[in-house]
Amino acid sequence: MILAGPPAAQALLDEARTRAAALPRRPELHVIRLGEDPASVSYVSLKEKKALEVGLGSTVHALPSATSQAELLSLIERLNADPAVSGLLVQLPLPAFIDSERVLNAISPEKDVDGFHPVNVGRLWTGAAALPPCTPAGVVRLLDYYGLPVAGQRVVIVGRSNIVGKPLAALLLARDATVTIAHSRTPDLAALTREADMVVAAAGRPHLITAEMIRPGAVVIDVGVNRVGQTKSGKAKLAGDVHPEVAEIAAALTPVPGGVGPMTVAHLIMNTVLAAERLQAGEQPS
Ligand code: NDP
Repeated sequence: MILAGPPAAQALLDEARTRAAALPRRPELHVIRLGEDPASVSYVSLKEKKALEVGLGSTVHALPSATSQAELLSLIERLNADPAVSGLLVQLPLPAFIDSERVLNAISPEKDVDGFHPVNVGRLWTGAAALPPCTPAGVVRLLDYYGLPVAGQRVVIVGRSNIVGKPLAALLLARDATVTIAHSRTPDLAALTREADMVVAAAGRPHLITAEMIRPGAVVIDVGVNRVGQTKSGKAKLAGDVHPEVAEIAAALTPVPGGVGPMTVAHLIMNTVLAAERLQAGEQPS
């Protein structure tokens, strides 16, 4: 089975639209972007398009690349304090002269729709109400959409980054999977993955996972997005972390592109609605 992302992402966006419409005030997503890096410009405009599509408000603060850290922090402070702002994110990467960690930590955890703030990381691991990072939360929604069980499954996640591998482990553990996290120093990766009911590849290495590393009938989720050249029309040619031959042996596989990618942006929209629900529930009736 091919686990196509677009229908699952649409279901998540439809849920976000319904929940947003039930709120007293429209959720508002604010995105801060510095400079004109083409990839950042295109990611931010996709986020804005999806927010508007489901009836959220969307504001992009497009600042010059020479914006100082102090100016950026003061904008974040203003947006943190503004009750009309539900979700706030700063598009990465930031210029090298800015301390990205300091900037991300300045975002109110209640509005941190990327789920990168240490308070949200702590909440995620302790089972409190977090805003989860969008890619791993999107993977869980994709599994749910296709009715693939998580509880009791032996899952191997290849990759231990703070934005994919580690938070996905927390989410799957909370859903009663038995989780192993592998990384570049893991000896004999194939021996581990061959034992798994589910393999999630998030290493950023094109075609790292081959058919002989997969148990017949396992579920394989490919988070990797690797640029491996150019198409004739000059567009980037993409490859996942999973070799296409795995489709022959796996019970289910996500394609690249068109698998996990659409779930990430859809979950950002859902996080904006979640943040708005919690913020508006906490407001005193006037
Ligand atoms: P990072 O580079 O931050 O982390 C990669 C991880 O993979 C590291 O933990 C690294 O190990 C591990 N790794 C690298 N090579 C190997 C190897 N040969 N064997 C085992 N483990 C290995 O990447 P990200 O987590 O940010 O992203 C991973 C992939 O997912 C990328 O292709 C990225 O483009 C994609 N991505 C896709 C998204 C989407 O929406 N579809 C969103 C986010 C990311 P170590 O820690 O030892 O260095």
